[in-house]
Amino acid sequence: MATTSLHPMIDNGLRKGTGSFAGGTLHCHCPTDRVEVTITGDVAHNHACGCSKCWKPEGAAFSVVAVVPTDHLKVTAHEKKLHVVDEAATIQRHACRQCGVHMYGRIVKNHPVKGLDFVHVELSDAIGWQAPQFAAFVSSIIEQGHDAAEMDSIRSRLKSLGLESYDVLSPPLMDAIATYVGRQSGALSA
Ligand SMILES: [Zn+2]
Ligand SMILES: [Zn+2]
Repeated sequence: MATTSLHPMIDNGLRKGTGSFAGGTLHCHCPTDRVEVTITGDVAHNHACGCSKCWKPEGAAFSVVAVVPTDHLKVTAHEKKLHVVDEAATIQRHACRQCGVHMYGRIVKNHPVKGLDFVHVELSDAIGWQAPQFAAFVSSIIEQGHDAAEMDSIRSRLKSLGLESYDVLSPPLMDAIATYVGRQSGALSA
């Protein structure tokens, strides 16, 4: 049996980020008239994600997705080709109608991570973006056709690459989300 591809940016080891990356442009996969998104500065919380909603390259079990402040992201070419994949989803994923690549995901309602956009830095030719820091929603890949019996080996491969596996998000992100929810309800003082 062939080894499951986790993601092309992960399978052969992670490329470290520069730590002070200036940003760059992302392009969709169309041969011409590519949608272009320009990002100012580096991304944060870059991670492998096993959920079924994030865009992932053909054959990969995980997506690689990061966040960037909304005001650091601008669509700079062919915006007309974008459409929202699922208007009802918390994250409005803007995908190219022609090639299907997700260019950015934005949260429009009140939410703990409103103000951040989700992006895939593999769509950039630039080198030096923050490397993946952890793996999220790992068990979710089972829902998409990966045998539960594979999970020990997948989790240990992630670990050997320096990526801790979580079945939701990482503890700092879960703590931030829970803090927001606690403040909204009044259980925590603001
Ligand atoms: Zn495209
Ligand atoms: Zn995801």
